[in-house]
Amino acid sequence: MATVETIYVGTIIHSISQTQLAYLNPGILGVNTDGTIAFVHTLPPSTPLDTFLATLTSNNTPTIRHLPAHTLLLPGFIDTHIHAPQYPFSGTGYTLPLLTWLTTYTFPHERRFSSLSYAETIYKRVVAKSLRCGTTTAAWYGTIHTPATILLARTCVEMGQRALVGKVCMDRNGGDGYVENSAEQSCEDTIEFIRGVRQLGSELVQPILTPRFAVSCTKELLASISSLSDSENLRIQTHCAENIQECTLVESLFHLPYVQAYHSCGILGPKTILAHCIHLNDSDRELLSRTQTSISHCPVSNFALSSGICNVRALLDAGISVGLGTDVAGGWSTNLLTAIRNALIASRVLSMRDGTVPLSLEEGVYMATLGGAKTLGLDAQTGNFVNGKYFDAILVDLDACADGRRDHFASRSVDVFEGEGPQECFEKFLFLGDERNVVEVFVAGRRVFCVDE
Ligand SMILES: [Zn+2]
Repeated sequence: MATVETIYVGTIIHSISQTQLAYLNPGILGVNTDGTIAFVHTLPPSTPLDTFLATLTSNNTPTIRHLPAHTLLLPGFIDTHIHAPQYPFSGTGYTLPLLTWLTTYTFPHERRFSSLSYAETIYKRVVAKSLRCGTTTAAWYGTIHTPATILLARTCVEMGQRALVGKVCMDRNGGDGYVENSAEQSCEDTIEFIRGVRQLGSELVQPILTPRFAVSCTKELLASISSLSDSENLRIQTHCAENIQECTLVESLFHLPYVQAYHSCGILGPKTILAHCIHLNDSDRELLSRTQTSISHCPVSNFALSSGICNVRALLDAGISVGLGTDVAGGWSTNLLTAIRNALIASRVLSMRDGTVPLSLEEGVYMATLGGAKTLGLDAQTGNFVNGKYFDAILVDLDACADGRRDHFASRSVDVFEGEGPQECFEKFLFLGDERNVVEVFVAGRRVFCVDE
C-alpha cells in the first residue's frame, strides 16, 4: 500500500470544472510513493499547521515542502496536439496557407525522419522543451517512419512525459515522395509501431492512431484505422476543417462534407480527437456531439496560417469536449501559456464581431489542463488535483529571473508588488509569465525537470 512521501504546503490552484478554479491558500497536498495524490486540503481557519499535518499522517514522516511566497503549485499543462518533427522550423514560414505550407515546409522536412540519428537529435530537444514549458502530457504526431516514431515514444518514456504518440498514416497526396505505398502498408507499419510502443512497457506512453487528415488518406485507409481502433482499443487523432480550401478538397474527394466524410469511414467517436474544426456548421457540431468526438483547439496555429477563428463557445455549447493544442509548427510556441492567451484573444475577436460570449480565464485554464485531459480520455489519471489521480504538476516561481538573480527586477518576466495575492500572481503568470517561471515539473510524482539541476 502506498504511503505519503511528500506534502506540499502553499498556494495551490487548479480547475474543478469548466468555469471554476479552486484557490487553496494555504493548500496542503500529499503525494504517495506511487506518484498518486493522497489528499488535497485547505488549512482550516484557526488551525495550527502542525496540528493539522499530524492528523494526515500517522505511521510515517513524509518530507514537508513549504512553498515560498509568489510560488504557485499548478496542474501540468496538457498539449492535445503537437507535431514533434516540425519543431525545427517553428517560428518560420507563416506566409502560406495550410495546403501550400504543408508541401513547402512540412512534407520535405518530415521526410528527413527516415534518419534515426536526425530524429534522435530533434525529438530529444522538442520533448525536453515541451516538458520545460510545463507540459506534463502531450499528444504527439510523429512522421510516417515507424522506427523514428517508436524513438519519439521512447524519448517521452526516458524523459518522463505522459504521452500519446502516433505514427502518421497517409497513403495519398503526400507530395515530394512523402507518402506510404498503400493503405495496407500503412496499416502494417502502424501495427508494428503499436507493438514497438507497447514493448517499451511504460504506463506513461501509449500509441494513438494518427491518420494525417482526409486529404492524404483514402477511404480504405480511414476505414482500416477505424477497425484498428476497435480491435486494439486505441484513440485516434487527426485534423478536420482547418482551412476553407482543405474543406473544398475533402468534399471533392469524398463527395461528402468534411465531418460526414470522417463519419462515413467510422472515424468519429469518443476515442477520437479532431484538431481545429474551425469551419463547421450546426449539423457538423451536432454530429460531433452525438458521437462524443473531442476537439483540440489550436488558436496560435489558426492565426499563424490565417486558417480562421474557431468558435469554441459554439463547440462548448454543443456539449463537445475541447482541449488546447500548440500545433507546433503551425503554431510557433511549444508553451501552452501562448495557446491560452491566443484562445482568449480569438474568442474576444469573435465576441466583438458577433456578440459570441467570450471565453473566461477559467475556461482557458480548464482547456489547458482538466479539459485537455478529458479531450484525450486521460481525466481519470491527470488534469487536476484529486485523490487517486497522478501528481502531474508544475511549480511556478513568479520571482524567477532570466539571469538567475532574483534581485534583477528588470529581467523578470513578471513583476509582483506588495499586497498582491494568489489570484493576481496566477493571472500575471498566465498573461506575462513564460517557461522561466516554471522551476519544477512533476509527472506521476517524479520530478522530471528542476531549474537548479
Ligand atoms: Zn496539426
